[in-house]
Amino acid sequence: MQIYLVGGAVRDELLNYPVYDKDWVVVGATPEEMIKNGYRPVGSDFPVFIHPKTGEEYALARTERKSGKGYSGFQYHASPDVTLEEDLSRRDLTINAMAKSSSGELIDPYGGQNDLATKQLRHVSPAFSEDPLRVLRVARFAARYVHLGFTVAAPTLKLMQAIASTDELSHLTKERIWQEMERALSERSPLTFFNVLEQANALEQLFPPFTTLVNNDKAQQIAAQFTDTTETKVRFAALCYVCFHTLSEAQTKLEQFCRDLRTQNQTRELAIHTLIAHPQLQCWSSLSAENKLALIKQLDLLRRPERLPPLQASTRLLSDENTNAGELLANLCEELKGINPKALMNDGYKGAALGEEIAKRQIAICELF
Ligand code: ATP
Ligand code: MG
Repeated sequence: MQIYLVGGAVRDELLNYPVYDKDWVVVGATPEEMIKNGYRPVGSDFPVFIHPKTGEEYALARTERKSGKGYSGFQYHASPDVTLEEDLSRRDLTINAMAKSSSGELIDPYGGQNDLATKQLRHVSPAFSEDPLRVLRVARFAARYVHLGFTVAAPTLKLMQAIASTDELSHLTKERIWQEMERALSERSPLTFFNVLEQANALEQLFPPFTTLVNNDKAQQIAAQFTDTTETKVRFAALCYVCFHTLSEAQTKLEQFCRDLRTQNQTRELAIHTLIAHPQLQCWSSLSAENKLALIKQLDLLRRPERLPPLQASTRLLSDENTNAGELLANLCEELKGINPKALMNDGYKGAALGEEIAKRQIAICELF
């Protein structure tokens, strides 16, 4: 059997980019041989194995044939006579269809190096159209590499448009769509993901509320502040504010969007809390003590202090001026936590009187911020 490094690791090494995960392809082997050599099979539609020591994925070379809708509607054929070139031909982009042998030789049957040099995201073959997930993947790679000058090759964009003009995109699962969007948000230029989907006529179908992001100055201003350490959920929350805040029913719509796509609870909560908190933080100094307290209670910030740092981060991204309202909110929460009901009970407060005294002291503290 021969083993080759394939896909992203080969591409990123040539780009001088950090390589995080390595995918391998094995030519000329049977599943039985793999198991005999200590590889652990992972139960899926096609033969993939985990290396016993490195934990990296080794897939047997395979070809595929479209047999149904969506990205899972494929029949795979893996056998020892499938060649490396055949395996590479089923891949999405030429820059992802290169392999490196154990002696360091580069195998590049589809012009991946040339497309790296000319910075083109180009499909390998017309079979590209068979998997609608590739529309999202190409948009995501554009979001990752646009700062290096990469663009989607014109014929590839045509194929993406052709996919979007059928009902294929509707066969992608919501989880998969969100997974791609979440990854795209963590890329260097997330807005490019939405721009490319728009050019492919896929944005309206996939993420209707996010069409607002295309050519949007505010979104650009927000994204320009993203750094390597800006968490994905913070990026999402800030961009959601641009997409949803002008509608009165924004909160319901955003809630619906997040539930549809099955985003993580934390992600949904932060986006909604940002929608609620940002307008109030913007006018913090003119907010009444009662309103400040109501906001803190609405977001349950005293019992859920972990909600504060990401909320400060998302609302800071949205602020035009250098405001410290988020910090004031955090300091206020800290002070409010200093109110000690036990001590008040020792002082003789109980029942309704205790509740009233706590509320009185909370308001008094809010007056100071
Ligand atoms: P990343 O750096 O994000 O891991 P990657 O290119 O390694 O990028 P993976 O999702 O890890 O992407 O997939 C590994 C390789 O498998 C890709 O480089 C590509 O060759 C192939 N591949 C993955 N998904 C698809 C797909 N939907 N259609 C065609 N080829 C795919
Ligand atoms: Mg990879």
